[in-house]
Amino acid sequence: MRVRRTSQLIAAAAGLGLAVTATAGPAEARNINTPKKLERAVTTEAVMDHLEEFQAIADANDDNRAAGSSGYEASGRYVEETLQEAGYETERQYFDFVYDRVDEFSLAEVSPQERDLEAVPMSYSPSTPEGGVTAELATPSGAATACEEADYEGADLSGQIALISRGTCSFAQKALTAGAVGAEGAIIYNNTDGDLNGTLGGPEPDAAPVVGTTQALGEDLLQELAQGPVEVSFNLQKTTEQRETFNVIAETEQGRDDNVVMLGAHLDGVEEGAAINDNGSGSAGILETAVQLAKSKKLNNKVRFAWWGAEELGLIGSTHYVEDLAANDPDALDDIATYLNFDMIGSPNYQIGVYDADESTYEAPVTVPEGSEATEDVFTDYFDKSGQAWVDTPFSGRSDYAAFIDNGVPASGLFTGADGVKTEEEVELFGGTAGVTYDPNYHSPADDLDNVNAEALGIMSDAIAWATMSLAQDTSAVNGERSAGKSGKPHPQGPLTMQGEEDAA
Ligand SMILES: [Zn+2]
Repeated sequence: MRVRRTSQLIAAAAGLGLAVTATAGPAEARNINTPKKLERAVTTEAVMDHLEEFQAIADANDDNRAAGSSGYEASGRYVEETLQEAGYETERQYFDFVYDRVDEFSLAEVSPQERDLEAVPMSYSPSTPEGGVTAELATPSGAATACEEADYEGADLSGQIALISRGTCSFAQKALTAGAVGAEGAIIYNNTDGDLNGTLGGPEPDAAPVVGTTQALGEDLLQELAQGPVEVSFNLQKTTEQRETFNVIAETEQGRDDNVVMLGAHLDGVEEGAAINDNGSGSAGILETAVQLAKSKKLNNKVRFAWWGAEELGLIGSTHYVEDLAANDPDALDDIATYLNFDMIGSPNYQIGVYDADESTYEAPVTVPEGSEATEDVFTDYFDKSGQAWVDTPFSGRSDYAAFIDNGVPASGLFTGADGVKTEEEVELFGGTAGVTYDPNYHSPADDLDNVNAEALGIMSDAIAWATMSLAQDTSAVNGERSAGKSGKPHPQGPLTMQGEEDAA
């Protein structure tokens, strides 16, 4: 894509009899000060180079870049070094999080039949004793959801494993209640179709060690239990401890510091693999945008970039950043004109998705701050203008923009899709395969360099670059701020959004 555009440029220049230097790209020579120039300067190749680095980092660090791992540290260092080479000062913002990992897990029926039982340990579950326990299953005497100790009245759970239905109260409450009545463990079965992958929400040392399983298996075990005792062996060994990780933050020297455009992408991945699409892709997209933006000699508004830590553990890094500002420097939070989020921009079976801030397709389950619609428009106007099809994706708050919108900062972002299923309509717009998820390798070990669609990555990186420069020069549509100062006086050059129209080399 970029290569083609460059050669068109060279051909055009040659046709005009202009000298073309082979060594420096057109971006190098010029002051990058318009959306179009920044869009050109951010190439798919350069973004892909960053992804190759993230892959190499994963390869060298036990195949993952998760929060608190050596792979995360190396990813952070790569981002910092790349930014520093481009002229930025970088900052690490440290924060604590609970590191929670399953080291060993097995669950099997011992009698009356021998079989493995499929289940998923709940996050923050305590460990069983070392070597595990072998115990009989027991059900509550009262409500199957077993939220209260009274639900076990008359039943002796000590030394047994409680078999409990999902529903009525939190998993944590069920596991704590089971622990309080002396159960050695708890199996919570779903009350609807599908696996049950739950969390206690935080460490609960007094809870019974707990797993989630399907409704089908739960009912199967209940039936067996109605015939006689069912013995189960359960071993769960965990590492659950407080650890420290960090966000990487950098901002342009240029531009008003009281009208800041902020971009963010989470740098951590899940433990399962290299996490290249989720979210090496967003991290690489904003990194290359930052590198090229540094060549700009004049920006009206400051642009701040963040690479968030521990997103996969519950949006922890971005929440820490925003809550820290809200508590200690509310003016600085106020100074953020808008926040752009990029979490997965190279999905193999992609959609070109824009967070639906104006709720034209999806009703948002969150409050959408004023200014978000105008932020969405920056992306959608760009796509419309360049003839690129796009679709709405829910403004759900389920990534690092959550803390921003909770605190009234406008937001939007781009998303090529995760575990949603591509429709026939989207295939007509973007190609790919209907009936298959956007990223079949979402959160799996196969989310590696081969799991990235370069075309999607290129389209989205261009959009990031365009939107960044457009807002760096003018956020008046978002918050009424003109570039000249807080007075709201128009910039001497007038609104700058149309600057991208020039420069048709
Ligand atoms: Zn993600």
